[in-house]
Amino acid sequence: MNEPKARISLAEASRRASTILTRGASSELETGAAPTFQDLTEVLHFALGDGRIWLNDQRMVLMQSVVFGRIRQEIIDAFGTETARSLFMRVGYMQGVRDAELIQKRFPHEDLTHALAAGPRVHTLEGFVKVTTKHFEFDSEKGTYFGEFLWDDSSEAAEHLQSYGIASEPVCWLQTGYPSGYTTKLFGKPVIFRETECMGMGAKRCVVVGQHAEAWEKDAPEREYFGLEWKARRPAARKPRPEPTARLADVVAPIGDVAVGVSGAFLRTRRHLEKVAATDATVLFTGESGVGKELFSNQLHAMSRRSAGPFVAINCAAIPENLVESELFGVDKGAYTGATASRAGYFERATFGTLFLDEVSSLAYSAQGKLLRALQERVIERVGGSRPVPVDVRVVAASNVDLASEVAAGRFRQDLYFRLCVFPIAIPPLRERRDDIPLLMAHFLALYSARHGRSLRGFTRRATDALLKYDYPGNIRELQNLIERGVVYADDGGQVDIAHLFSGSELLPPFTVSLSREGRLDQSPLSAAASLAEGASFEQIERNAYRVALERAGGNVSAAARDLKISRASLDYRLGKLGMKD
Ligand SMILES: [Zn+2]
Repeated sequence: MNEPKARISLAEASRRASTILTRGASSELETGAAPTFQDLTEVLHFALGDGRIWLNDQRMVLMQSVVFGRIRQEIIDAFGTETARSLFMRVGYMQGVRDAELIQKRFPHEDLTHALAAGPRVHTLEGFVKVTTKHFEFDSEKGTYFGEFLWDDSSEAAEHLQSYGIASEPVCWLQTGYPSGYTTKLFGKPVIFRETECMGMGAKRCVVVGQHAEAWEKDAPEREYFGLEWKARRPAARKPRPEPTARLADVVAPIGDVAVGVSGAFLRTRRHLEKVAATDATVLFTGESGVGKELFSNQLHAMSRRSAGPFVAINCAAIPENLVESELFGVDKGAYTGATASRAGYFERATFGTLFLDEVSSLAYSAQGKLLRALQERVIERVGGSRPVPVDVRVVAASNVDLASEVAAGRFRQDLYFRLCVFPIAIPPLRERRDDIPLLMAHFLALYSARHGRSLRGFTRRATDALLKYDYPGNIRELQNLIERGVVYADDGGQVDIAHLFSGSELLPPFTVSLSREGRLDQSPLSAAASLAEGASFEQIERNAYRVALERAGGNVSAAARDLKISRASLDYRLGKLGMKD
């Protein structure tokens, strides 16, 4: 195994000289080389009560191994062993690729040897199998890789044995896909792993060997499973997949104002949008302030037949009441209006396009009547004008107050309300689409880095934690503002940290739930070592500990003292000393 060495390892030397090392081997690593298990557990956290577990910015799920075994069995029985094997290998490959991306993102300064060595640890952390590295070595220039690993207690082998008894071939399909994906992603060239021994075949443990793809010679069906070889024969029966609702261009667009998301709530909204986009129907967007109603309207316009026409957006609340009608419908010159020249209103300017009326509830009652007429008869009348002007405009309205109750209160015309709410689309608040936060974080980071000419290495762990847990009363606009602030305040070339993001007026979530060194869920942000590493003073840590304990105990000092495992008297004394009695 890896003995601690007095000399500087090659990997360390390359890091110090910041040169690119093209060769490496596991034997050059020191024991406890980063990223360690501890480093990795720090990126795992449980958002208790929120229905989410995060590994850095990837959502994870806890599922019984038995249930996974059942899924596997159902798939084998439905499609046969051959198909099931390729399917699970492919899925495992994807899992490995995603974890390699996570390592690249979270530990960007590790060289290839360290990054490769982290793979077995992430795989082990995720609970599929216990991996021991026997040896690996690579030469990027020559494109060669060789690695040998031991797997103890493979969950997949155990499930297979449970369902089918001893197998005649290796059965850890998902598991062999994993290092193949992980190593290929980091190494940049196809590397394929295979089991030479498998617990599913009655061996004591599984033995896995990985090599660059060419070394396996012709007979490597994995190449096709993983899509490493595009020219290879493909199963003829595969039908083209229907286009996913969230088009890739939207999801990965690095810059620009597009609605991005992958969450269920977001995709539901997108589907509604797609359905009505092709029609000329009036659409009403509802949702809290800051959810991105204008963005969605803009997207609706872009997806519609009117996309070549103008998109005119106005905020009804921003127009003074006495100017609303002339702004919307235009003015004709004359003695009556006092205007020296005729001018078109927003309606006419949006001809053949889309007119977006934000905060439509703040329209004056008389303007509401004219809007209704424009919608029903497709004509408008300029202020001081003598003849109706036909208009070809699609109206999209938005409101962050409940229009039905505005109608009930007599402030909004019922007939206009009925006219507007034929196709209501509710845009969910950000807290209901938390799965989109990582994507939005990356999106806004790229957007504002480009806009402000900054080059940043992502977010620190604390910043990521805080952004994932924050409640966002101001929705996407607030997230956007936080990140823009972070981009501006962070040091160029550095990472965005929590202090760059939050000004202090926001109500930060009170505690982090993450894994303690012993592997238990640790509910304290008071994890003193972490706080010290973050530069907090002892007094700050102590105050924090008391504050959190009191919050958890609902203000009950005795309960808080029990929680802290100190006497009530000493807690009382310390609270007095620190001026925290109230
Ligand atoms: Zn196995």
